[in-house]
Amino acid sequence: MSTPTASAPATGGRPRPTPPVRYRNFIGGKWADTTSGKYAPNLSPADQRVALGDVPLSTPQEVDAAVEAAHKAFPGWRDTPAPVRARILYKWNALLEQHADEIAAILAWEEGKTWSEARGEVMKAANIIEFMAGEGRRIGGSTLPSELPRTFVYTVKQPLGPVAIITPWNFPIAIPCWKMAPALIAGNTIVFKPATLTPWTAQRTIELLEEAGLPPGVVNLIYGSGSAVGDQLVRHKAIRAVSFTGSNEVGTHVYTEGAKRLLKVQCELGGKNPLVVLEDADLELAAVATSQGAFGSTGQRCTATSRAIVIDSVADKFVELLAALAQKVVVGDPLQDGVTMGPSVDPGQFKTVLGYLDVARSEGAKLVTGGKRTGADHGLFVEPTIYDGVKHGMRIAKEEIFGPVLSVIRVRDFDEAVEVANDVDFGLSSSLYTNDVNRMYRFVDLIETGIVHVNSPTVGGEAQAPFGGMKGTGVGTREQGAVAIDFYTELKTVYADYTGTKRTTNIY
Ligand code: NAD
Repeated sequence: MSTPTASAPATGGRPRPTPPVRYRNFIGGKWADTTSGKYAPNLSPADQRVALGDVPLSTPQEVDAAVEAAHKAFPGWRDTPAPVRARILYKWNALLEQHADEIAAILAWEEGKTWSEARGEVMKAANIIEFMAGEGRRIGGSTLPSELPRTFVYTVKQPLGPVAIITPWNFPIAIPCWKMAPALIAGNTIVFKPATLTPWTAQRTIELLEEAGLPPGVVNLIYGSGSAVGDQLVRHKAIRAVSFTGSNEVGTHVYTEGAKRLLKVQCELGGKNPLVVLEDADLELAAVATSQGAFGSTGQRCTATSRAIVIDSVADKFVELLAALAQKVVVGDPLQDGVTMGPSVDPGQFKTVLGYLDVARSEGAKLVTGGKRTGADHGLFVEPTIYDGVKHGMRIAKEEIFGPVLSVIRVRDFDEAVEVANDVDFGLSSSLYTNDVNRMYRFVDLIETGIVHVNSPTVGGEAQAPFGGMKGTGVGTREQGAVAIDFYTELKTVYADYTGTKRTTNIY
């Protein structure tokens, strides 16, 4: 077990809260140490010498206890009217807003995005909770005409029961909240398994939910490895649905395991998002958006811009503008003022990104700027990197890198741009820069992504709008927006005959 050795606030930097010595599971309304006695250190990506507490590696028995607690709490929560459930969500929202600076510092420190990006993420989580609390007064079905006399046909949305929520490290507060808020408002209970790389953000999020007055057992938090805790959760018979966000490899495994018992599963997975620049685009705006999308959050966003697909006639100018922006990015400790890009999250991700820089070299892509690690040896920093002359068959143009690496692919015309944009396994987000309204609508018709931006970066989304991808990016209904509630509810159809007589007409 490691001892927290958090450094004192650095000069010119943000305040750093004190990390817990170790994180604890939250089961049935009680915080408890794991009985396994096993922990993994939570190391800061900006300085791998700094340990931010120890993360429990929980046991299968603790998973069972968490599911049992969620199962026991379900009838009471299900029977609590949705507008009353909403009051707890409103309090949770208020507490998150109140603690936004503290949580942003925690998030930036353990995940590596900059403080302003982290604060934006906390506010995104708060917005989603506020929106979902409002849905508590709106969850409804429909009324339908009947073929029969004096018969009332209607639908109701009912909660499923205990659901599992399994989340990645790259949005450690927004993603758990965009899953938990609709699950809770719809009346489900939850077992939440966060990524082991970001336990502190998860713990503070749940502590505030407890403070908001959530009854014991309605949300249970369990830490541990994906293969032990995650698998046990997905296979548990009492779990009625799994909402998963993460890699394609693990998502495919979760979906396959779920299919074995016809479990309701929602997977939101990787991306390889294109930003298309047409010859009539405002190139300065397009370059700024590309830089924001490619290097924001160190490229560790599922919606990150990883391909700029540019019409050849404007590509030289576009690359020149973009390179100048990349060279202005300040890489360093995310809690230091003035830093605009943080580190890769852990040694594994760092190695993956450096590995893709080797791949780019071997594939013959032309390095424009960046292309190597930077900063002190104890940090996991990579320079913002741009490759030009990338052919769309190359691995760097097809595979998700999850780092600050952008491929510029030059194309002849609009048709080739769309063909290249669609020629990947993923389909999360895309962006088009143009001032031509006809080609804009044609792009919306043809592009194979769940989210389309026009003259805005591939990243970003609003709480009230559905979020999710097509093709290899995901299966299941969309998250966020009112539609998110569909995943966490069963639709029940009711036929109520008020004739008081036996039926004389057949219906089919
Ligand atoms: P990951 O798949 O490694 O882990 C995600 C979660 O799954 C973690 O909590 C992990 O512990 C758990 N897990 C691992 N093995 C498991 C198993 N066998 N059974 C059950 N759970 C298991 O992903 P990551 O590295 O944390 O996140 C990065 C990935 O997430 C990227 O591919 C990114 O594109 C994707 N992502 C997608 C979206 C989206 O909305 N489409 C959003 C954010 C991130």
